[in-house]
Amino acid sequence: MEQFFNVADIFGENVFNDTVMQERLPKKTYQKLKQTISEGKELDLETADVIAHEMKEWAIEKGATHYTHWFQPLTGITAEKHDSFISAPLPSGKVLMSFSGKELIKGEPDASSFPSGGLRATFEARGYTAWDPTSPAFVRQDAAGATLCIPTAFCSYTGEALDQKTPLLRSMEVVSEQAIRLLRLFGNTTSKRVIPSVGAEQEYFIIDRDMYLARKDLMYTGRTLFGAMPPKGQEMDDHYFGTIPERIAGYMRDVNIELWKLGVSSKTQHNEVAPAQHELAPIYAQCNVAVDHNQIIMETMKRVAEHHHMRCLLHEKPFAGVNGSGKHDNWSLCTDDGVNLLDPGDTPNKNIQFLFVLACILKAVDTHADLLRQSASDVGNDHRLGANEAPPAIISVFLGEQLEDVVRQLIETGVAKSSKRGGRLKTGVSTLPEFEKDATDRNRTSPFAFTGNKFEFRMVGSSDSMASSNTTLNTIVAEAFCEAADKLEKAGNFDEAVHDLIKEYLTDHQRIIFNGDGYSEEWVKEAKRRGLPNIASTIEAADTLTTKKAVDLFESFGVYTKTELESRKEIIFESYAKTINIEALTMIDMASKQIIPAVMKYAGRLAGDVNAIKAAGVDAAVQTDELKEIQKNLKLMKKALDDLKALEKKASAISDQRELAFFYKDKVRPVMTALREPADALEMLVDKKDWPFPTYADLLFEG
Ligand code: ADP
Ligand code: MG
Repeated sequence: MEQFFNVADIFGENVFNDTVMQERLPKKTYQKLKQTISEGKELDLETADVIAHEMKEWAIEKGATHYTHWFQPLTGITAEKHDSFISAPLPSGKVLMSFSGKELIKGEPDASSFPSGGLRATFEARGYTAWDPTSPAFVRQDAAGATLCIPTAFCSYTGEALDQKTPLLRSMEVVSEQAIRLLRLFGNTTSKRVIPSVGAEQEYFIIDRDMYLARKDLMYTGRTLFGAMPPKGQEMDDHYFGTIPERIAGYMRDVNIELWKLGVSSKTQHNEVAPAQHELAPIYAQCNVAVDHNQIIMETMKRVAEHHHMRCLLHEKPFAGVNGSGKHDNWSLCTDDGVNLLDPGDTPNKNIQFLFVLACILKAVDTHADLLRQSASDVGNDHRLGANEAPPAIISVFLGEQLEDVVRQLIETGVAKSSKRGGRLKTGVSTLPEFEKDATDRNRTSPFAFTGNKFEFRMVGSSDSMASSNTTLNTIVAEAFCEAADKLEKAGNFDEAVHDLIKEYLTDHQRIIFNGDGYSEEWVKEAKRRGLPNIASTIEAADTLTTKKAVDLFESFGVYTKTELESRKEIIFESYAKTINIEALTMIDMASKQIIPAVMKYAGRLAGDVNAIKAAGVDAAVQTDELKEIQKNLKLMKKALDDLKALEKKASAISDQRELAFFYKDKVRPVMTALREPADALEMLVDKKDWPFPTYADLLFEG
């Protein structure tokens, strides 16, 4: 790629998008496909054959040799199996390139090695992938050459969802259906569908590849398990929005180019709070496409880092003591003809439809705060939520001054007579333009914040898929819309009924609104007083999936069956236990083979020095003290190491996955901390040259 280029020229060049389809597909085929996409009609095989043929021709022109059904099993990342386009050799010894409609719409990867949480025994290995025509196919170019990637859903032989996309697509349908019912009641006769739109801000760390490879913890677990804080952390606030260093800038440029070619609208990039931490945000898109694009973003970030001799860390907490990484899920609902249901306009007090939608969302979030919290949980995120850097583990909604005032009026009097205005922003500098400021300031500590025309759900972890948070959001809001529509459809006087429902919902669910500091201790107490759930960990959150409330919700809207929910819960326990197990084993490995031997060697040398100094008739008190301090910590390490080994042995005898997960959380993790503390103290005592792997300062400041 030349150094300077026009983004518009390359944007979407590797995507089988609408323009390409219009150009290449026969008119009738194109129309049928469009119908499938916009109305959810099933595609006949004949049409699929034509599309597949054109898609293949187009992909081959881009250099593609293989195609793959690209899917999202319950691992949180994507999976693919590549097949080349070649067919059986002809008698002439040549081959033809072929790709049929059947191959396009249906794949059959062996499903037995993906987590299924008991949905499928290994002997029933059949799983199917099915094309999601609403998310465009693309050609990915990498070291493997070029591959045609077809976004697909992944289901078992009996139709259970083995992936993240299937429930997401189901939830998009139900929220659309229920929102349309409401819109019709409000007099909208034109919109056909309501589509959740999602913009995902992605945080990540970039470090040098050699340093990464020198640390087993990063290699095996994605985060550091040892490491003393460097003299400088993020306290100067000089990294956030700081000038992007050349090496990182070059990396970001290449990431952007790759993303633009794939039609991902990478828009914003900046340095984040912690050293070596950055963020990328695309422009929002239709929910399932945004979720797919977020997967592409994560894959691309990791891949491009390799070309720059760097590594991209997507773990939620790669370094203790500095900020972790999250993913902000910006969410709103838009009609197919372009109306954003979350746009309050200038005078929200007069916008009854908006207030109604808002009241329904508040009701949904309050009723299902536990599920929403669950949807953003993963093992890594346990280090962030509630740890004074990310939103607390308590769900609450930030509305901002303007809306809070409107809501208060509605609750108190049943009518909202006025809306606070933003006013003019005056800087006191005559040459700067005055402008209208927003009616509301921001609140960075809220997990679920209204930000003008969308909600920003800030709890999701940086490495996690966005599918489950959006599946839950769509479904809980669908339920609130449905219950409201049931009442309004029967109401004699619509205006009065709407008015009463807004007041009722806001009054009943006002406890979920919180505009203060979400990081404060007082809020934790206040939330408890209000009866809001405060679920501390991923595995405690997992239990919310199978409460009667959850099963009723998800089953009644056909988003998850009870079996699917149970399987997901099982997978959470399994993957939690496996993750902590790997972390514990890695600590044992690093402590026994690297840290302890290095410290012993250093201590031995120091002891020699003590003797030599004493022999020279000089006081060796300083060296002796140092040696004692080292020995003390070494002893603590040895004790914790032995304890950890014993616990690991105990864990291997536990077969119940839930019990095992809690064993790792309650018994193993505290001992991991007990092993880390003396090790980090030793790092400060031992000569830097003798420390067996790169330190935080090396990782964070010398990349
Ligand atoms: P902020 O700085 O408040 O986080 P941005 O304008 O940078 O806001 O937006 C953050 C993300 O929200 C971007 O991905 C953006 O495209 C997305 N976004 C903006 N409007 C909407 C909307 N109506 N629905 C969903 N996402 C949106
Ligand atoms: Mg944001």
